[in-house]
Amino acid sequence: MRLFGHAHQDWTYELILLDADGTLFDYDRAEKCAIETTFHDFGLDFSDQTLARYRSVNDALWKELERGNITSADLRVERFRRLLAEIPGAEREGSSSFDVEALSRCYLRHLAGGSYLIEGAEDICRYMAERCDLAILTNGIAEVQRSRLSKSVLRDIIPHIIISEEVGLSKPDPRIFEYAMDVLGRPRRDAVLMVGDSLSSDIRGGVNAGIHTCWYNPHGATCGQDLVPTYEIRALEELRLLL
Ligand SMILES: [Mg+2]
Repeated sequence: MRLFGHAHQDWTYELILLDADGTLFDYDRAEKCAIETTFHDFGLDFSDQTLARYRSVNDALWKELERGNITSADLRVERFRRLLAEIPGAEREGSSSFDVEALSRCYLRHLAGGSYLIEGAEDICRYMAERCDLAILTNGIAEVQRSRLSKSVLRDIIPHIIISEEVGLSKPDPRIFEYAMDVLGRPRRDAVLMVGDSLSSDIRGGVNAGIHTCWYNPHGATCGQDLVPTYEIRALEELRLLL
């Protein structure tokens, strides 16, 4: 664990806010399975290149969502519209008769069915749940996130889930953090920790909200100079050291 200047080693956290995708859930795996199955359902060719292009298009749109420039309802269809426009084999399907919205719904159905946990997530959540209050704070799509959580063992361990689409605000907007703290018993701000893999939403949001942050960075990415998480970890089990 990397500990930055202003952290207190013997801090007592009362509430831990956990990001879902890429932090507790293996979103890459769920996403790949869901796209592959959807393309198969619609008779479209799927390759690793398709997946890579989808991720690029999707990431750009989620950044737009974080900036408040697109709604999650528009995002879910727009990403496939852009992707299909790039795929030569899909141009024919890209005619007006091709139903991108149906494809998007099909994808979300498959995605909602795929609940794969990151290694160590269940154990660390059980450990933390005995010591403090836990809540998921996610920018995901409500029907997908609720379905995936309901299929997961985490359902019985993490009592609260706060979803941007339902609140009408997305991380890193500090107001969704304020909302979370309001509905979760208004703990002292310095007793709240945000844990997540995204610098732009989880860490930026936590910093904006004035709470401690823990950056889950399994692949050893470089942190931008202007943003300083309170802690940085490579494996979820390192969270034990904070409780
Ligand atoms: Mg994430």
